[in-house]
Amino acid sequence: MRLILLGPPGAGKGTQASSIAEKYQVEHISTGDIFRYHIKNNTELGKKVKEYTDNGKLVPDELTCEIVWERLDREDCQKGFLLDGFPRTLQQAEILEQGLKERGQALDSVISIEVPNEILLERLSGRRVCNSCGEPYHTKNKSPKVEGVCDTCGGEIVQRKDDLEATVRNRIQVYEEQTAPLIDYYKERDLLLSVDGTKAIEVVREEIFATLASFSSKDC
Ligand code: AMP
Repeated sequence: MRLILLGPPGAGKGTQASSIAEKYQVEHISTGDIFRYHIKNNTELGKKVKEYTDNGKLVPDELTCEIVWERLDREDCQKGFLLDGFPRTLQQAEILEQGLKERGQALDSVISIEVPNEILLERLSGRRVCNSCGEPYHTKNKSPKVEGVCDTCGGEIVQRKDDLEATVRNRIQVYEEQTAPLIDYYKERDLLLSVDGTKAIEVVREEIFATLASFSSKDC
């Protein structure tokens, strides 16, 4: 299976991606996670992309596509992949489509998780994360037992710079301007499956599995 998970920041892509990748036994590739890894380790790539990610801006297409192809061409992706956070622009989608064609491959489906802006803003600006193990928290519904200290590993709980309210608003605007047009792009190619991302995590997960199953059987 070659899948894309599309959706605005805060739609729950990362959470759903882990379950989908596990069920379909494919590699979960998150460009955001790759960039964060490089920034944390202060690599050359990390130094180049930090300013963009800190401000909620998109990393240039050329650089992003280069790291994606480097990853997709590895052995473990030959059985399939789930892209989370890529593509995010029409140009990235075209480069992906062309590159897959050159490799004799094609996408199976694109899952679009839909959530209205007010909910995204509340979800993201209240989000906190453990600096060491990555365990997620939320000011509204998941506080740690001791303020600022991770329940799981005792690490420090922080707010990601790109989750600050002004940056979140910017990320949502960037999504609407640059990424939302991909919904029509994939609809035209008959690949789009839409799910309601406002429901509980497990409900959204089941809806994704059911939609994917009916879409695959339609192809047979
Ligand atoms: P995410 O965790 O997916 O929201 O990604 C965090 C940040 O990484 C984004 O706000 C962008 O700055 C950058 N980023 C991730 N994926 C892409 C992409 N496909 N194109 C450009 N920038 C990206």
